[in-house]
Amino acid sequence: MRLSELPGQTQALAQLGTLLEGNTLPHALLLFGREGVGKLPMAQALAQRLLCQQPQGAEACGQCPSCSRASKWMHPDLHLLMPIFGRSHEGNKMLSAEDFLPAFREQFAEMPWLSLKNWGNVMDAANKQLMIPIHEVRNLQKKLTLHSFEGGKKVVVIWHADKMNPEASNSLLKLLEEPPAATHFILTVETPNDLLPTVLSRCQRMGLHRIPVPEVNDWLLAHQDVPRGQAELAASLADGSLSLALEMLNHAEENLSAEFIDWMRNLTKAGASHYLLAWAQGMSRQSREKQKVFLETALEKVRATLLYKANVPQLALAQSSEHEFLQRFSAFLTVKKLEQLQGLFEATLVLLIRNANANMSFYTLGLDVSRTLQAK
Ligand SMILES: [Zn+2]
Repeated sequence: MRLSELPGQTQALAQLGTLLEGNTLPHALLLFGREGVGKLPMAQALAQRLLCQQPQGAEACGQCPSCSRASKWMHPDLHLLMPIFGRSHEGNKMLSAEDFLPAFREQFAEMPWLSLKNWGNVMDAANKQLMIPIHEVRNLQKKLTLHSFEGGKKVVVIWHADKMNPEASNSLLKLLEEPPAATHFILTVETPNDLLPTVLSRCQRMGLHRIPVPEVNDWLLAHQDVPRGQAELAASLADGSLSLALEMLNHAEENLSAEFIDWMRNLTKAGASHYLLAWAQGMSRQSREKQKVFLETALEKVRATLLYKANVPQLALAQSSEHEFLQRFSAFLTVKKLEQLQGLFEATLVLLIRNANANMSFYTLGLDVSRTLQAK
């Protein structure tokens, strides 16, 4: 990946450009910012620029053999430390980043805005603590004493550097204090204060901002095969994080429309209170992202129903499978009731954004919706 391909990071890229063109990049750089803003792809793009054989100003050429190898994390002078579990399933073998590198390369090729959660899933790390163990830093130390393979710079990327325990951090500190010649360290964390103060003081910090909504939207449309409406919805809810936006798209594919229709049918039946308790509990166990997308879907359906009522169903852009439901729903409900539903969904969405208790919020919502539906 090249630096110019990173969406939404104008400020950090301008800063990097100045440092690269002036040849004043510090030997240790800390990229920080929330998950999904692009710390890992930026670290890779910067490493590629540093290792490129024909850089053009602040940008890597993207075509030389070094670029090609660095873009796949296959360059021999590009060293990567990432969170892993330090022992095998049987517990008798020490594992190193190299054991996981093939899986990591594959994941990065698929999605450079990789989240730690997804990485944990790839490694099947359920209930295991992901960390960067001390033996990893010691291995690195040994490798860095050797000459570089290509006779140029060496680059070390430490993804989620906060996953080093104090032992590993102190070992890294020694490297940062007496850095080997022509070696660049690029660390990434979400919050700088998660690092040991001594390590922090050795790094120049660079903050990555949330990616603006239009840029998340454009990226999704360019890289994912999704309808415009779904991309817009995911972008608006993702709070500047590409990995979160993708997670939301995956939920959208689980067909929340069908779930909503099913919910409405159950709530129009008398004696729905038992159903409601279980439903609210089920919803509260979903991720916060899915809860929000469910409510956004509900709002979308209410808007579509209003269009059916106004005799312009073609404007609702509904799927043919939903046509029958929307027709019956619009015949069943008055405009006033639909507006009441809209108000209820919006209020619950606000509650969730403010981190209210999901079980309680969904239970109350269900009761209110059920009353609205059944009122004379
Ligand atoms: Zn190149």
